[in-house]
This record gives sequence, structure tokens and C-alpha cells, in this order.
Amino acid sequence: MLARITERGLGLLALGLSFGLGLGCSQAKPRTVAERAATGAEGAEPDEPDATPDPDPASLVAIHLSFDDAPGAGFAPGARPEQAASYNELNVEILATLAAHHAPASVFYNCDKLLEGDTSLAAWAAAGMEIGNHTASHANLAEVGLEPWLDDVRRCDAVLRERLDEPPAYLRYPYLSEGDTPELRDSAKAALADMGYQNAHVTVATTEWLLATAYSVVKQRGDAEAEAEIVAAYRKHMLDAVRAARELAIHEVERETSQIVLFHVNRLAADHLDEVLDDFEAAGYHFVTLDEALADPVFELPDKFAGTSGISWLARIHDPERERPPYWFGIEEGRLTEAYGALLEGD
Ligand SMILES: [Zn+2]
Repeated sequence: MLARITERGLGLLALGLSFGLGLGCSQAKPRTVAERAATGAEGAEPDEPDATPDPDPASLVAIHLSFDDAPGAGFAPGARPEQAASYNELNVEILATLAAHHAPASVFYNCDKLLEGDTSLAAWAAAGMEIGNHTASHANLAEVGLEPWLDDVRRCDAVLRERLDEPPAYLRYPYLSEGDTPELRDSAKAALADMGYQNAHVTVATTEWLLATAYSVVKQRGDAEAEAEIVAAYRKHMLDAVRAARELAIHEVERETSQIVLFHVNRLAADHLDEVLDDFEAAGYHFVTLDEALADPVFELPDKFAGTSGISWLARIHDPERERPPYWFGIEEGRLTEAYGALLEGD
């Protein structure tokens, strides 16, 4: 676990540096939503005197909730079959919270983790949620190369086709790693399109998996105070992540876009997704399906990024010739690793 965190952390910190973190370069401050509201939204017709001003720009923000690493994050392939029951529970609890908030969602499976006795896949299907492919073994495209990676996609595809009434239509790249060269990126994209897959982009990159690991540690210890602190950090992290993504959207395309938020199927979400969704609702956000979110034309823009780091779609469309503000995700991951890294190392 530590190796993974260190590797990811360093990669993202390096990415943050390449985006101008800590280098003291001048940073264009993105226009805030309030400033935009004051100057008028781009979509408003100037010659339409009766156009009602938008009372709350946040209400325009459509949010899609997506959950990776099903049936459970950190769930090793080859786990004992009796563990299926506890993972079934995780998924059922998350689904109950989503139902209580009338929130459509998508879930992305690592098919190697499907144990005998798994009922989670059927539960997501019965709830009418979008079920996608996240590769069989969570392979990193940039590390394993095109053909082995496509084999991993195909293995999961075969399982999902066999178990679901509808063939899967979406793929979420593990680690959001879409290839470290333009050639690899474009070849993978073309092969996925041939298989009938659409990329389930993420616009709101998060590091909640790190908090979820820390949460499991303190929960096991019975440290209620530390647990409450992590839950508060989780709620703040998820709200800040959406806010940062909205600012990035305004910087890149000068308007609000739909936002696709990355969660993972973990105990932290099963226990506290309810509060996060309360916070989203209080911020004025509304929940939409993956189809609805991906209908935003922002997803038609050219991908300008090839690298080893997993970054959000709104960072991928950035023209490297233009300046941009520091990438929030890189800073946040560094901050959370500093705050909770020791817990993850078992100190
Ligand atoms: Zn994943």
C-alpha cells in the first residue's frame, strides 16, 4: 500500500510542479462563479431583456457520481470467498444512500475481484445504475502496454456481458492512466471505440481512497476522535474537489460544465456518503446520469495530454501553451499524504 501511495503521490507532486506549483510563476486567477454571475453568463442572449438572471449559478452544475474499484477498493484478487458477504454489504449500503438522495450513479468493476457469492453486481443492475468496465485486474495502461491492457479490458468485458442483461458501454481507465505517449493513448482509444466502449471521463479527481484507508485504520483501533476528524476531512475534500473542478472548467472553457466525481467503493463511502451528498445538495448541485453528464460538449474537445499521471478531463484539455492556475489535485494529494501518510504506514 505504501509503495502505491508513494508512487502516486510523487507522480502527482511532480505533475503539480510541472504545472507551476511552488515556482513562483505568475498565475492567472480563474474568474469565480460569482464574478461570472455579475458579468452575465455566456449563454444569455444579450438582446433578450426578459432573461431572468440566474439566482444561483451552482444550481446549474450537474454532478454525476461514479464509483471505482467495485466490488470493493483494496479488495485483492484471490480473497477468500467468505469475504464476498462483506463486500456485498458495502455496495448495498452505498446503493441505499444513493436511493435516499434520488441520485443516479455509475460503478466500475474490476472483474477479477468478483467472488463466488457476489451479489453486488446484481444489486447495482437492479437499482438501474450504469455498470462499467474498470479492467479485470486494474492494469495501468502506461505500465503494461497496449495489448496486455486490452486483454485485461476484454476479460472483464466477457464477464460483464455474461452477467448483465445489457453489454457494458463505458470504461473507466485504472489510475485514470490513458497512455504516456500520444500514440499509445490514441491506439487504446480507437481499440475501445471498436469494442463499443465510451470513456467514462472524470472531471473531479479526488484522493478519497487515501482518506478511506486512514479511516479503516482508525476505525479498527476504535479511535472515535480520529475517525470524526477523517470524516470531516472527507466531506471537505469532496466539496473542495468539486469547487476546484468548477474553477478549472471556467479557466479552460469559460463556463460551468457538468462534473463527474470520482468515488471508490469503500467503507468510508458506505458509512458517510450520505453527509457528502447532503453537502452537495446544500451547495445547490443536482445529480444526473453518466449519459447526461457526458452529453456536455466539453467532452468533445481534443485531449492534449499524454503522461503517466492520472489527471481529470479538465486538465487533459489544457493547452500547454497557455498558463493555468496550480492544479488543486496535486496540492491536495500532497497535503493529505502529509496529514495521514503516517497512519497508512501503520505508525
Ligand atoms: Zn481504480
